[in-house]
Amino acid sequence: MQEPAHLTPMFRQYRTHKRDHPDAILLFRMGDFYEMFFDDAREASQLLELTLTSRGKGSENVVPMCGFPHHQLDAYTAKLVQANLKVAICDQVEDPKKAKGLVRREVVRIVTPGTITDPGQLESKQHSWIVGIAVSSQRPAAAFLDASTGEFLAWTPEDDDLDPWAALADRIRNFQPREIVLPEGLELSPGSIAAAPNALRTTSDPAAFSVAAATQSLIRQFGVASLDGFGLRDRAAAISAAGGLLDYVREAQRSGLTHIDRILLHEPSKRLLLDAATRRNLELERSIRDGSRKGSLIDCIDSTRTAAGGRLLRGWLLEPLLDCELISRRQAAVAELVGGLGARHAIREHLTGFPDLERLLSRVVSDIAGPRDLSAVRDCLLRIPEIIRCVSELRAPMLREVAIDADPCVDVAARIAEALVDDPPASLRDGGVIRPGHHAELDELRSIRGDGKDHISAIESRERESTGIASLKVRFNKVFGYYIEVSRSNLGLVPAHYDRKQTIANGERFVTAELKEYEAKVLHAQERILEIEVEKFGELRRAVGAEATRMKALARIVAQVDAVAALAETAAVQDWVCPVVRDEPILRIVGGRHPVVERHLSDSRFVPNDSHLAAGGSAIAVLTGPNMGGKSTYLRQVAVITILAQAGSFVPASEAEIGVADRIFCRVGASDSLAEGQSTFMVEMAETAKILHYATARSLVILDEIGRGTSTFDGLSIAWAVVEHLHGVAGGAPRTLFATHYHELTELAVQLSGVFNLRMAVRERGTGVAFLHRVEPGAADRSYGIHVARLAGLPRGVIDRATVILANLERDQYGRDGLPRLARGASRSAGRQADLFGLMLREEAPTPVEDPEGAVVLAELRESDPDRLTPLEALTRIVEWRRRLRD
Ligand code: ATP
Repeated sequence: MQEPAHLTPMFRQYRTHKRDHPDAILLFRMGDFYEMFFDDAREASQLLELTLTSRGKGSENVVPMCGFPHHQLDAYTAKLVQANLKVAICDQVEDPKKAKGLVRREVVRIVTPGTITDPGQLESKQHSWIVGIAVSSQRPAAAFLDASTGEFLAWTPEDDDLDPWAALADRIRNFQPREIVLPEGLELSPGSIAAAPNALRTTSDPAAFSVAAATQSLIRQFGVASLDGFGLRDRAAAISAAGGLLDYVREAQRSGLTHIDRILLHEPSKRLLLDAATRRNLELERSIRDGSRKGSLIDCIDSTRTAAGGRLLRGWLLEPLLDCELISRRQAAVAELVGGLGARHAIREHLTGFPDLERLLSRVVSDIAGPRDLSAVRDCLLRIPEIIRCVSELRAPMLREVAIDADPCVDVAARIAEALVDDPPASLRDGGVIRPGHHAELDELRSIRGDGKDHISAIESRERESTGIASLKVRFNKVFGYYIEVSRSNLGLVPAHYDRKQTIANGERFVTAELKEYEAKVLHAQERILEIEVEKFGELRRAVGAEATRMKALARIVAQVDAVAALAETAAVQDWVCPVVRDEPILRIVGGRHPVVERHLSDSRFVPNDSHLAAGGSAIAVLTGPNMGGKSTYLRQVAVITILAQAGSFVPASEAEIGVADRIFCRVGASDSLAEGQSTFMVEMAETAKILHYATARSLVILDEIGRGTSTFDGLSIAWAVVEHLHGVAGGAPRTLFATHYHELTELAVQLSGVFNLRMAVRERGTGVAFLHRVEPGAADRSYGIHVARLAGLPRGVIDRATVILANLERDQYGRDGLPRLARGASRSAGRQADLFGLMLREEAPTPVEDPEGAVVLAELRESDPDRLTPLEALTRIVEWRRRLRD
C-alpha cells in the first residue's frame, strides 16, 4: 500500500485499524458512507463495480478511494464475501455531534465466508461450515462449526485410520467448509487443500490453539467445569482445533455467541460411512451431470417444510445410523405418521412457513438481528405450543418424549409481544418498532410528535385572532422550520415580537419565540423517540438472546418433527414400505426401485427388481448385460435402499430386509479428479485401493465397471483380482454387486463359492434388441454396445466397421500384448473409422505382434521412458532388442 507522506488524523486512524486487519477489506464509516482506501479501494471498486475516485486531489497526498451509502452495507458485504474476501466493518462508535475532535471508530464486526449468518447468503437447507484444524503428536484433528446455527462438532482420526491426513481430507471433502482456519505455521496437506479447493484458508493466532488456552475458551463458552462431558478427554488436538476456531469466530463476530451451547463428537465410525466418492457416485446430494441439487436423492425425497428440518434430514441421509434400536425408534415415528394421515397433515400445516429459528437465534445473540428477525422469533414461539400439542398425542417415543419435555418458552414470546409492534419495519432506524404502552416517555413523545398538526392549527387560529390577519398561515420548511406567512397587504398589522426572516413575492415570513420553542420540542421528541426505540430494542434483543439455549432446544424439536413428517409424507406419496433392519450381514429386497430414476422416467414404468445377498454366503454378484440395460441403476438402488433403511426411512420396495452395513462403497470406473491432479485411472485405482483396505464383512460394495480406465487385459486382470480379494475378506466376503462388461468375469462364479452371476434381461429383435430392465440369474455374453452406438447416432460406416471388428475379436484374435489383430482385410478408410474407437490399428504388413518375441519387445518399447534413460542405456537396449528380433 503506497501511503501519502503526511497523513491527516483521519488517515492515521484508518491506518491503525487497517494494520490490525491487513487481510481484510476495511469498510471505514464516514458520515452516511462506507469508504475504502488504497489497495482495498482498487480491488473492491472492480469487484463491486464502484467508481474509483481519490481524496486529496491536487495535493501530493492523493489517496484512491471508493465507497457506498451505509444502508447498502449488507448487499456490498455479501458481494465481497462471495468473492472469498474478508470484510472488516469499522463504524463510528460515538455520536459525531458529541465527539470532541475526530470521531472514535472501531471495527465492530469481521465478516468472512465461514462466519456469515445472513440468511440471504446461505443455502437454507444446508449447513455452512467453517473448520479449524490443529495437530498434536503429528496427528491432525478438526472442529467444524456452523456459526449460523451454532452446530459445533469435533473430529479426530480413528486409531485404525492408516493415513490420518487422508482421513482429514476425506472429512473436509464431506463437509465442504467455506473457510479453513489454521494456527499460523501449520501447513495443510495438499490432499486437504484439494478436498475443498474453493474454501478460504485463514491463519490465526497460534496461542489460541494451545491446548490450555483452547480448553479455557471452550469451558468459558459452555459454562462447564470440564470438557469430559463432551467426550473430549484425551483429545488434545480436537480441543485445540475447537478452541482456536471458536476464538477466531468470536473475534470476527465480536459477540458472545451464546447460541453455540455444546460441542458434539463427530465420529464417522459410529455412523454408516459414506465417503465422498460414494456420495458423489450415488448422487446423494448432487447430480453427477451438472452438480446441482436437482436430480439428487435428497432433492427427490426431501419434502420438509422448514429449513432446519431440511438440514436435519440431509444429515440423516448423509450419516445414517448403525444401531438397530435407534433405527427402529425413528422408523416407528415415521410409521405412525405414514398411517396417521390426519396427524401428519396437521403437523405439516403448522410447519408451513415456520421461520428458521436456529439461524434467527444466531443473529439475535450476535446483536445483528433486526426488528423483523425478532418478530419472526415471536411468530415461531407462538406456533410452537400447537405443534407440541399435536406431537404429544402421538405414541412413538421418539417424538412423544421430546414433546412432553419441551419448554415452549411462552415467557419469551410474551416478552417480545409486549415490547414489539405486530408488524415492525425492516430497519430500526425507520422507527415505530416499540409497541405503544410499553414505555411511558416514548408514548408521551410520540403524542407530542403526533399532535403536531392540531397544535399548529391552534397557534394559527390564535395568531389570526390576536393580529386580526385572517389570511395568516403557519407553515413548515426545511430552511426555517416553522414560520408565519403574512401577505403584503397585511404587513402593517404584524406585531413587534414577530421576527422577519424572508421576503417573498406577495408577502413576508416571520418566526416567533413560541414557534421556535415548539419546533425544538418536536425535533427533540423525534430524536429522543429514536433513541428510546434503539435502547428498548437493544434491551429486548439482549433479553431474548439470553434465552437462546432454551429456544435452540425448541428449534431442534421442530426440525426433528419436520424431518420425520417429511419422511412419512414421502413414504406415503411414493408408496414405500418399512424395511426390517437386522444386525446381520444380509440383504433381501423384493421389488426394489431407484427413487430418482423412477421419478424421472416419463414415458415408461420403472421395472422393480429383487436383490438377495448374504455376506459369507451368496455375497458377490457379478452383473453383466447390455449397455443401457439398467445395471448402474440396479446397483445404486440397492445402495440407496440400504442408506434409506439405516436413516430410519421407509424404502422404495414391496418388501425389504436390510442387514446394517458399516460402510457403503460405491465406485464407478473412469471418472477423473483433475483438480486433485489425478488421472482417470489413478482415481479409479486409488478408490478401489480404499475399498480393499477398509471393506469388512459388514460392508456393502458397489463396483460399476471397475477396471474400465485401462487396457482390456489390464482392466480385466485387476477386476478379477479385486473380486478374489473381496471374496477372501476375513469374516466373510462383503455384500458386493459388481457390474461389468468383462464377460470373462462371469467365470468367477464357477471358481469361487459365494460368487454368482446376474444379468439384465434383453429380448433380441432382428438386428436390434429391447431392454427389459429386469435382473435375472445367469451371465450375459454380449454388451450390445454397437447397438447402443447405433441408437446414439454414430455414422453407419462406423457401425458396420465396428461390427466386423467385433466379429474378429469374438474369434479370439488377440495378440500376446492384448491388442487385437483387427486390421486384416481392412480398407484404409475402415481403419480410420475404427480409430474412432481409440483402437491402435496397423494395416496390411505383418507386424511384430504376430511374432511372440516381437510382441514382448514391442511391449517393452512402449513401456520404456526415454526421459529416464541415459544415452548409453538406450543404445544397449536397442542392440538387445535387435538381437532378440533377429533370433
Ligand atoms: P451402461 O452399461 O451403458 O452404463 P447401464 O446398464 O448401467 O448402462 P443404466 O444407466 O442403469 O444402464 O440405465 C439406463 C437407462 O435405463 C436409465 O437411465 C433408465 O432410463 C432406464 N432404466 C434403468 N433401469 C430401469 C428400470 N428398472 N426400469 C425402467 N427403466 C430403467
